[in-house]
Amino acid sequence: MHAVRYRGRLAPTPTGEMHVGHARTFHAAWRRAGDAGGDLVLRIEDLDPLRCRAEYTARMIEDFQWLGITWTEGPVLQSTRGDVYRDTWRQLRDAGVIYPSHVTRKDVRDAAHAPHDEDEDAEPLFPPHLRPPLGAEREYDSPEGVAWRFRVPDGEVIRFRDARCGERTYTAGADFGDFVIWRKDGVPAYELAVVADDITMHITEVVRGEDLLKSTARQLLVYRALGATPPAWCHEPLVRDPDGRRLAKRYQSLSLRTLRERGIPPEVVVAGDPHIL
Ligand code: GLU
Repeated sequence: MHAVRYRGRLAPTPTGEMHVGHARTFHAAWRRAGDAGGDLVLRIEDLDPLRCRAEYTARMIEDFQWLGITWTEGPVLQSTRGDVYRDTWRQLRDAGVIYPSHVTRKDVRDAAHAPHDEDEDAEPLFPPHLRPPLGAEREYDSPEGVAWRFRVPDGEVIRFRDARCGERTYTAGADFGDFVIWRKDGVPAYELAVVADDITMHITEVVRGEDLLKSTARQLLVYRALGATPPAWCHEPLVRDPDGRRLAKRYQSLSLRTLRERGIPPEVVVAGDPHIL
């Protein structure tokens, strides 16, 4: 049997300045692809028209160059791949695993209970009694005009092995509930776009931040519904401040721009103790 060539990706979202946490994750993705002698696709996750800006993309590309991070394909912009996402939406609709939902965030907040772990980003679980009847999706030929959610198999335990974090298990309906696949404003949601891209770009390993571990469990359900083989996973540690909080939220001063202006060399940014930066 011939070995499958390694294909990784760098998938930044251009909503702001790259900071030291992102830089370390991207550096790890670049190193793993390089060590495997494989390909690395630069994919710009610019689907949200309100939050993403072309100038941030340009600055991220400059930051990658400063860090010495290179890629073999791209940049590919998600905003140019609407057909891929609509095709994936259609497959999920035909599989009967997604449904249109008029339920607002406020309805969810009012009716929901929190997931059972203490995740700092935990969203309230979508209450199953607010699902429409089975088959509601069949009336739709396109995703537009309404939000779409994935109906999770309540109580099913989802397991995967992560190259860094080891075995992980999450329970659908307890750790996370029905998640958004297509937004009401017509934008494909992250969980759909990322799986559609990783499948069609033939990605063999996903390297990203630990904050997305739970998303991996959701995405495995999407892979299964599409009959696709998932990639391998490697979730990198987040850079935290001395109180254990996520850096991204509080330490804006650790943007790569600022560090660079302070004369800190790229090798210290990717490897040094974040608290001395
Ligand atoms: N674009 C996402 C982010 O910047 C990463 C998505 C992924 O790697 O799956 O957080």
